[in-house]
Amino acid sequence: MIAEILCIGTELLMGQVLNTNAQFLSRRLSALGISQYHQTVVGDNAQRLEAAYRFALSRSDVVITSGGLGPTVDDITKRVAAKVAGKELVLFPEAEAMIRARFAQYHKDMPVNNMSQAMFTPDSTLLLNAHGTAPGAIVPMGEGKAVIHLPGPPIELEPMFINQVEPWLRERSGQVLVSRYIRIFGMGESEVDQRLSDLENGGNPTLSPYCSLGEVMLRATAGAATREEAEALLPPLLEEVQRRLGSVIYAIEEDDSGSLAKSAVEAMKARGWTVATAESLTGGLISATLVDVPGASSVVRGGFVTYQTDTKTVLLGVPAETIEEHNVVSAEVAVGMAKGARERLGVDIAVSATGLAGPDGGTPERPVGTVYLGISTAQGTYPIRLQLTGSRARIRTLAVKHAVNALRLEALGETGGQTC
Ligand code: AMP
Ligand code: MG
Repeated sequence: MIAEILCIGTELLMGQVLNTNAQFLSRRLSALGISQYHQTVVGDNAQRLEAAYRFALSRSDVVITSGGLGPTVDDITKRVAAKVAGKELVLFPEAEAMIRARFAQYHKDMPVNNMSQAMFTPDSTLLLNAHGTAPGAIVPMGEGKAVIHLPGPPIELEPMFINQVEPWLRERSGQVLVSRYIRIFGMGESEVDQRLSDLENGGNPTLSPYCSLGEVMLRATAGAATREEAEALLPPLLEEVQRRLGSVIYAIEEDDSGSLAKSAVEAMKARGWTVATAESLTGGLISATLVDVPGASSVVRGGFVTYQTDTKTVLLGVPAETIEEHNVVSAEVAVGMAKGARERLGVDIAVSATGLAGPDGGTPERPVGTVYLGISTAQGTYPIRLQLTGSRARIRTLAVKHAVNALRLEALGETGGQTC
């Protein structure tokens, strides 16, 4: 089965709205193992939409539309599809009842023009909308092909697709795909690729890498007639990847919801640890990133934002002489900050960060992107020097990731440096 996404709305062409529906639908389709070779965005224009439908239906089995199901004149998605199918729109009483119920829920009367939202070609299968007034539909287009209409707002489109469209697609696609998402921090994409290149041409399961800021992800996907058969194909590949990459793998999950912070919080929780942060260039971001993880409250005790130099002395007890002698961006200060935070909050582990995020302030000795982290436990305290590059935002984000990863590794018993 080949599917194609057709997003409708002039606001998408003008850049007023980011086309998140295309990304959402693409991810879900690829997880289902349904191929997609084209995507289209078209404005609210009947002539161009008609051409887009005809072209999409000439090369794909299922065309999934997003947007243009509202009651206004620019909402032409269904009308134009009906024209292409050579059929009339008729009223679906069940859809009308749903729309009326939604308005009653909002304590409003239904305007007459909302009736158009209850009109579909007679052979359509209705998709009820739990979050808005626009029902969707699966519309047969002849030759076994179909158009699937979904509403534009992501909050309506996403549950409708997951709950009503995916079962329909799964029934027709004939194979079950199962994936695992392998998440990696601390090894570049080319190094990962070099170590795994022979596994990436394996056929079934497939192994495909992609990357985001400072991280590499691998998706391992197996296809078979049943879920059990597909599941059984994955373990040998996953074990081999783990053997080759080791502890730079921070999570292997069934979806791509993993994060470094989640893995770090889980690792600290497993040790029964509490953590504190002492942050200069990251200004609280390490703490905020850890707290993003549900259930972080049993692990994260608190933290210090010590941005100006003297606050490192006032709040964390880093001696002014240490700062004077070694520079505020130094291993000694990072160590002093981490130690101060651990002792003052009585936690098992503390992490600190001091560095130069730029764009100004670099020197030959300490160029922009020089960052020192400190990790302090009862066993001792050690610094980690990072030399990062890029914009201020990138340097700060990467510093946070390295800090969170250092907590993870320490909790797993894999220290990242020499204690001092
Ligand atoms: P519509 O169903 O065309 O009236 O769209 C309603 C609203 O849904 C738009 O104003 C956007 O805010 C949102 N929307 C429509 N299409 C998309 C899309 N492809 N991605 C994200 N949001 C969208
Ligand atoms: Mg629209």
